[in-house]
Amino acid sequence: MKIALVGIGKIALDQHVPALNASQDWELAATVSRAGRVEGVEAYTAIADMLAARPDIGVVSLALPPVPRFAAAFAALEAGRHVMLEKPPGASLSEVHALQDLAQKKGVTLYTSWHSREAEAVAAAKAWLADKQVLRGHITWREDVRKWHPGQDWIFEAGGMGVFDPGINALSILTEILPMPVHLTGADLDFPANRQAPIAARLQFAQNITADFDFRQEGPQTWDMEFETDQGHIALRMGGNILEINGKPAGGENTIMGEYPALYARMAALLRAGASDVDLRPMVLVADAFTLGQRQTTDAFDF
Ligand code: NAP
Repeated sequence: MKIALVGIGKIALDQHVPALNASQDWELAATVSRAGRVEGVEAYTAIADMLAARPDIGVVSLALPPVPRFAAAFAALEAGRHVMLEKPPGASLSEVHALQDLAQKKGVTLYTSWHSREAEAVAAAKAWLADKQVLRGHITWREDVRKWHPGQDWIFEAGGMGVFDPGINALSILTEILPMPVHLTGADLDFPANRQAPIAARLQFAQNITADFDFRQEGPQTWDMEFETDQGHIALRMGGNILEINGKPAGGENTIMGEYPALYARMAALLRAGASDVDLRPMVLVADAFTLGQRQTTDAFDF
């Protein structure tokens, strides 16, 4: 299937292009980006031009930051194309609902992808937890924004979500693996004095679960979640790639290279089934953190 990739930035080049090139399902037929290019692929700078010139491209994958993504997604759906969205699927819940309605009206597929759900040990953790009662849990998601988002000022602008840009990955795993629904009861958010989005957040959930997100971690990076259950202890480490049960290794592999191939395989399967997959639970938790969160001002941040 021919696909166009929109927003040729860090994640497009690191993950989307290699995953598409390695897949039997896909042919990367065009890109849309003001400055980014993929060698050997027809390049457009405006999505309207690509949609008009290439009616043969039926699928559009959007790797833009969340704020500019809606207009591009709307245009692609309006033009009758199937659409796959990077995480977070939008800057607001209401705009993703609008995309969902439009996709349904047009009879096309909309896929809100969550790459961390495809990490190596997530399915095994979900299966292990399925018949357990979770007594308490804690998420530690601490990474260096300068390393993973070098110079990306959009991430600290309104709608960029700040530390929730990686934190929503943890919440996508949480909402996937828990055997019960989870809801937020409180949050503390640290906003740099010169920015519009938080650099750190501490969250509390009703189910005795807490989370600690921080964008200022230098040195070793931490993407861990641990749960105490009525039948033992489970830990997911390295962003869902490594599993430990009762303190012992229980599977997984420390690589992120399987995640995007799995997302594109899922998109191909959705197209074959004529289905959509729009799961907004991780984004609801982030919206609730902004609604309930107590805001503190912290040191100014510059890249
Ligand atoms: P990025 O490097 O800043 O790239 C996004 C591209 O979108 C830019 O290169 C830019 O290309 C285009 N763009 C169009 N309008 C823009 C605007 N108003 N502001 C900024 N860029 C604009 O960002 P990224 O790291 O690839 O992240 C994109 C999405 O992928 C985000 O939703 C993020 O959560 C997700 N993601 C990122 C990572 C990661 O490790 N960085 C991992 C997983 C998922 P042109 O200037 O050429 O138009």
